[in-house]
Amino acid sequence: MIKAITGTKDILPVDISKWHYLENLLRETFQLFNYKEIRTPIFEETALFARGIGEETDIVSKEMYTFKDRSETSITLRPENTAGVVRSFIEQSLGAQQSLNKLYYIGAMFRQERPQAGRLRQFHQFGAEALGSTSPLLDSEMIQIAYHILKNLGLKNLVVKINSLGIPEVRENYKNVLRDYLKDKKDNLSEESRKRFDTNILRIFDSKIEVDQQIMKDAPLLIDYLDEQSKNDFNVVKNYLTKVGIPFEVDPALVRGLDYYTKTTFEIVSGSVGSQSALCGGGRYDLLVEELGGKATPGVGFAAGMERILLACENEKSLNLPQDSIDAYLIRVDSKTEQNLELDLKLELELINLSSKLRQGNISCDYDYLNRSIKAQMREANKFNAKYVVFVGGDEFNRGELNIKNLSNGEQQLIKIEDFEKLKSIIKS
Ligand code: AMP
Repeated sequence: MIKAITGTKDILPVDISKWHYLENLLRETFQLFNYKEIRTPIFEETALFARGIGEETDIVSKEMYTFKDRSETSITLRPENTAGVVRSFIEQSLGAQQSLNKLYYIGAMFRQERPQAGRLRQFHQFGAEALGSTSPLLDSEMIQIAYHILKNLGLKNLVVKINSLGIPEVRENYKNVLRDYLKDKKDNLSEESRKRFDTNILRIFDSKIEVDQQIMKDAPLLIDYLDEQSKNDFNVVKNYLTKVGIPFEVDPALVRGLDYYTKTTFEIVSGSVGSQSALCGGGRYDLLVEELGGKATPGVGFAAGMERILLACENEKSLNLPQDSIDAYLIRVDSKTEQNLELDLKLELELINLSSKLRQGNISCDYDYLNRSIKAQMREANKFNAKYVVFVGGDEFNRGELNIKNLSNGEQQLIKIEDFEKLKSIIKS
């Protein structure tokens, strides 16, 4: 038997209402903040991610799904969507049409990571990118949007962490300070961190390994070396969050190890999902558009993992979704028989007539296609949480009537078949 690829998941009908709920909330929220949806392709040229995310990142160096297509072009399934959005922004000259583009996306991403709870190989992210302004109000707005969504899902166990990486010159200068500090401790670092010492020294702060953490505990912090502008912007972010009532922690070890990341970075973590605790992460990337070949344009954004967020909701039992239901289930009273073809046809036509008229009247309904007994049809009606059942058949049908039953209180009434308006108004009431 062919199975799904490791690390991918079917989202089944029993779970879909959570996804719909989340997606509706996302669209409503982005509308509130005046962000427009953008949909970019699921695959792009590999070079886009190599440049847009950075060769030395885990994503590019070991997690991408990359393959050659039949024309020998190197293609990669998108591991995130910032690079794709920025590519589109440049290619479609969005900046020329609108000086500030506030964009959002929802979609599947692909990374060949070791699967575990909250970590998949095909997963879904939503995110936003604001391109065209250096204002720290936008950095703050990103955090506010993400927080608004998580709060509206009923999540409680949240921590907002923020940091500033300053401007590149300051960061380069700071890297030397950090290199100086680590020089004579380097041999005690883990192998991974020793590598990062040469390739991406800031990322040593990300290490979860005890020896590294011990050494990094006393390391000089970038936040103490910030330039005036970055300091001011960071203060704006802090004031904004305070003003709108979002609690936060400054986490000087929150680094994004890419050279074109600038100033604000943030993460929202949940205490309800185990080791993979980051629900979303983002920050400012004033140099990315230029890095990808566009006219220098400042940007800021975030991305959030939808499976992880839904896992947090499940663990906190924070979602109280109404059960799926349909308005009516039509029950065929007389089963099909060879003996009574005429009645069969009449009943069938009535079921077709009723169901299509109900649906046109915006009333959801269904009926049996398997020639099941009345009892079995009733079980179906209950399984679908039908509000009403309508019995079609029997003596009532011969008299030109239908029996309609309210399943929540058991009340039944007879109505004339031709009095469709009455049937509709009962079901709608
Ligand atoms: P990143 O693009 O790595 O900053 O990730 C942003 C968010 O996407 C994370 O905070 C997670 O919620 C989610 N995420 C990242 N990688 C995965 C994965 N492999 N499986 C599920 N969710 C993920």
